Amino acid sequence: MFKALLVEKDDEGKTSASVQEISVDRLPDGEVLVAVDYSTVNYKDGLCIGPGGGLVRNYPHVPGIDFAGTVEESSDDRYKPGDKVVLTGWRVGENRWGGYAQKARVKADMLVPLLDGLTTRQAMAVGTAGFTAMLAVMALEDQGIKDGPVLVTGAAGGVGSVATAILAKLGHEVAAVTGRPEQEAYLRDLGATQIVARDELTEVTRKPLEAETWGGCVDAVAGAMLGRVLKQMHYGASVAAIGLAGGAAIEGALITPFILRGVNLLGIDSVMQPYDNRVRAWSRIAQDLPMDKLDAMVQPATLSDLPALGKDILKGQVKGRVVVDVNA
Ligand code: NDP
Repeated sequence: MFKALLVEKDDEGKTSASVQEISVDRLPDGEVLVAVDYSTVNYKDGLCIGPGGGLVRNYPHVPGIDFAGTVEESSDDRYKPGDKVVLTGWRVGENRWGGYAQKARVKADMLVPLLDGLTTRQAMAVGTAGFTAMLAVMALEDQGIKDGPVLVTGAAGGVGSVATAILAKLGHEVAAVTGRPEQEAYLRDLGATQIVARDELTEVTRKPLEAETWGGCVDAVAGAMLGRVLKQMHYGASVAAIGLAGGAAIEGALITPFILRGVNLLGIDSVMQPYDNRVRAWSRIAQDLPMDKLDAMVQPATLSDLPALGKDILKGQVKGRVVVDVNA
């Protein structure tokens, strides 16, 4: 038996989440059984702990879209008991049971071996949010980061915090957009050199273009802000769009930045990344994320804290990364 956060649905369609003891034979099929050390809280987890937001197919459900731990059993040659592994993506925690449990069974293809030197706790301090931030930075680099500060929106959140730290470590000037002025010291400590108030970028204007300001952008917010930011990009610069914490619709005069300034809008999806890309991103994380900054980003949590944290992240109230010690 092991402990897990189980989300159940009653006859009226109402969901409730509680920590329960579960037997291993209830886990889904897969070649690898992992003893989980840590998982994290991401925006999608907030949806899956609550009514599901259309992500969860079957109840009862164990959320947790990422985890790091130690292989306990494996019928796949690539993994043997004792190996340290990390998982992000593949809709684990959405349409199959995930990391909010002391054990998880997954397909071998979904895992990546943990790089030497990274602990399971550090891997989850990074987690899906940090992995996505790295993919976004790599996508900007592929297109070429232009002169001018790199803008990070939703900067005090999970993706934004890690993106800020990586870009600063790589030597870029980072402008961090936040709706929480009280997080200025936190963002400056991660390496931001400029703080932009959220309100400055959420007003919709009729202008087709604005002054060329940003050399690149990691955008976690979309909505009205993305409409403004596109019009402020330097000629030929790129926006790596990773999320929609501020709304799914892009507003404003949309075509002008693309046809008059050659701006690129790059969509970043962490869920279906091929194995080689996942390994490349994790080695870049080990190389380019200042590990001494991770502690400032991390808020520790236990399985029983998750119902409340799920609500907080949906309200945009979580700072940095929440690392869940599933054995605490
Ligand atoms: P967080 O909740 O940790 O961070 C989001 C941040 O966005 C908040 O902290 C807040 O930052 C800002 N924000 C929240 N609401 C609004 C709003 N209404 N208007 C403007 N800004 C707002 O989430 P994550 O960083 O983990 O994820 C961010 C987004 O990225 C989510 O939509 C998530 O689903 C998506 N995502 C996508 C992935 C992919 O593969 N593409 C992978 C991981 C996440 P502040 O207070 O500083 O303003």
